[in-house]
Amino acid sequence: MSVTKKLKTIPWDDIKTVMFDMDGTLLDLHYDNYFWLDLLPKSYAKAKGLSLKTAKLLIEGIAQKNIGLLNWYCLDYWENELDYDLRALKKTIVEKIKVRQSVEPFLNQLHLYYKDLILVTNAHPYSLNLKMDKTRIANHFKKCISSHDLGLAKENKGFWGKLMNIEPYDPQQTLLFDDSVAVLRQAKCEGISNLWGIHQPDSHQAAIQQAEFPLIKDFLNLFPAGPIKHRK
Ligand SMILES: [Mg+2]
Repeated sequence: MSVTKKLKTIPWDDIKTVMFDMDGTLLDLHYDNYFWLDLLPKSYAKAKGLSLKTAKLLIEGIAQKNIGLLNWYCLDYWENELDYDLRALKKTIVEKIKVRQSVEPFLNQLHLYYKDLILVTNAHPYSLNLKMDKTRIANHFKKCISSHDLGLAKENKGFWGKLMNIEPYDPQQTLLFDDSVAVLRQAKCEGISNLWGIHQPDSHQAAIQQAEFPLIKDFLNLFPAGPIKHRK
């Protein structure tokens, strides 16, 4: 199905809440991939006197046993496991934190239609704050929520229901953008009806190939067309 075809099916008049993932959706995933796959192994190997291969295997081993768990995203957990200051290392490459193309015009447009905009991320609160300090996009959102505040990752059963305790929303009137298929699947299980993935979350890597959810190439293509009912 082409993106253009699918766009016409967004029921904008019925959408009250638009939720955005952060890394790979609002922001270029390159920062995170560079950090975890390149900078951290090299820096850790040097600091601990290990070969790069050993450092990579160690980091991959920790990542593998925590796939789909909140620990995977938890800086406290990683710093404890590695006995290493990841916070300081993250700050050394803040120039790589970039807002994805067309995100800010899209957010501005949605404000005109009085949509509630919520940022919901698996990122640790430290990373969330670091990225909001760098990009200055936090004021677009009614709330910026880290899954660490709920004690569950977004792909975990029950997350989207529990989220209502922090931010009440109607799943039938909610649109979610997230570059993680696992997250979109769980949101679908919990009743969120409008789900969109991201075509190329990392500007330095190939686009995603999947047909389970529609993928956005450019948010500009999603501007609501024509008049939309104002809620207030
Ligand atoms: Mg993401």
